[in-house]
Amino acid sequence: MVKHSLPFDPQQTAWWFVVSQGKLLLRSERIPQTSWQQLALSEPAQICQIGEWQGLPCLLAIYQDRITDPELWHSPRALLMAAEPHWFELAARAVQLSLFLQTHRYCGQCGCAMQLVNWELAMLCHKCGHRAYPRISPCVLVAIRRGTDILLARSERHKPGYFSILAGFVESGETLEQAAVREVAEEVGVRIGNLRYAGSQPWPFPHSLMVGFYADYQSGDIVCQEDEIAEAHWFRLDDLPEVPPSESLSGQMIRALQAEAGKTK
Ligand SMILES: [Zn+2]
Repeated sequence: MVKHSLPFDPQQTAWWFVVSQGKLLLRSERIPQTSWQQLALSEPAQICQIGEWQGLPCLLAIYQDRITDPELWHSPRALLMAAEPHWFELAARAVQLSLFLQTHRYCGQCGCAMQLVNWELAMLCHKCGHRAYPRISPCVLVAIRRGTDILLARSERHKPGYFSILAGFVESGETLEQAAVREVAEEVGVRIGNLRYAGSQPWPFPHSLMVGFYADYQSGDIVCQEDEIAEAHWFRLDDLPEVPPSESLSGQMIRALQAEAGKTK
């Protein structure tokens, strides 16, 4: 069993990020600022500090007991729309770390119990020295522009009428730029160039890091990858279908290209 990295003090006032099976406890749609005692829950399995806000610690508490009030537990997605983006970032960190701690209780190399390192966020096997860090899976987003058009695709997972820019996971040994070029070629058969970094966003579903690039169309006709892309088209930037909200990086990139195209008209 992993050790508590912090002594448990039920009287301590903190921002409590209580996670149970990937879901966060919210009170009035917010992270509760209170003591554990006030939360009226049984003792958590593990506590870990993940940050500080307004002079109070942000504590991750992994809760393993049975939940009696499921309506209070939410996906971190519920905080994506919060007025201040740090709530989503902290929630992303809490949920990702709880997944990491729960899936690294035993060493992948020798099978012995692992323990949380106190001075860095890592799990260590004292038997063989194997050390594991929270898993982060980089995923590239590519917004391809051709004049006043943007290439948008609908994945098999999305409902008809909802389109977004292309996305794909980075493979071992690949640069972010190589991943962007490869993914676009695989998913829609188009060649791109002039990649420009757009930004990044943690995406805790369950442990992605989105990295966005703008790119220019170079050549090729759209050929959708089977079982992955349901449809893909060039859309005029001033006449778009339903796209992701502006809280997500893909939504921000689409709107930025729209604004840029509006200026150069
Ligand atoms: Zn080991």
